Amino acid sequence: SDVGSQKDRVVTEEEWLQKWEMGNIGFHKEQGHPLLQKYLDVLLNGRSGLRIFFPLCGKAVEMKWLADMGHSIVGVEVSEQAVKEFFSEHSLPYCEEPVSEISGAKIFQSTSGNISLYCCSIYDLSSSIVGKFDGVWDRGALVAVNPRDRQRYASLMINLMEKNSSYLLVTVSYDPNKHKGPPFYVPESEIKSLFG
Ligand code: SAH
Repeated sequence: SDVGSQKDRVVTEEEWLQKWEMGNIGFHKEQGHPLLQKYLDVLLNGRSGLRIFFPLCGKAVEMKWLADMGHSIVGVEVSEQAVKEFFSEHSLPYCEEPVSEISGAKIFQSTSGNISLYCCSIYDLSSSIVGKFDGVWDRGALVAVNPRDRQRYASLMINLMEKNSSYLLVTVSYDPNKHKGPPFYVPESEIKSLFG
């Protein structure tokens, strides 16, 4: 398959912020993703009280859903508007603090303590800052990353995973010559080479 048409495309952080400002967020879904419900057992693998990471989280409602099941959620999102909308739309009180290790970054934490959203670029994170995770929900994340940054993204994600963690990845399959993305088309072969 020819993905040449997408490989040089770049969406800047500024453009993402503008999408949020304009309400141009067709990727956001009010209903929990059916594939998370379907594969929840694979993610949990019989475990409870997991640390679950949401890369490029937006205001994904699945964060609230998993937190209500007793898991600890950590997300990262470049748009502060998205983060604030998440907490306000679920009527969750939160506090906000600077992140000492990352200049300009803030962390928003639910008062109940089990949802922590970093407002910064994912590339500013490392396991020394956020720790490691038992599970990852990657929907609208790998497919939203600029094609030239995929290797860096995947290396970081692998670095953030505990030994026995599970990673649920949602991708989209379509002809990359017909749409410019995001979401970008990531071929199966590339997923294999990125994640092994
Ligand atoms: N996963 C979410 C959002 C998908 S859209 C969902 O399922 O609804 C991709 C999101 O990533 C946008 O909200 C965008 O603002 C954010 N984003 C883009 N580049 C980012 C980066 N480098 N670091 C953190 N967030 C980023």
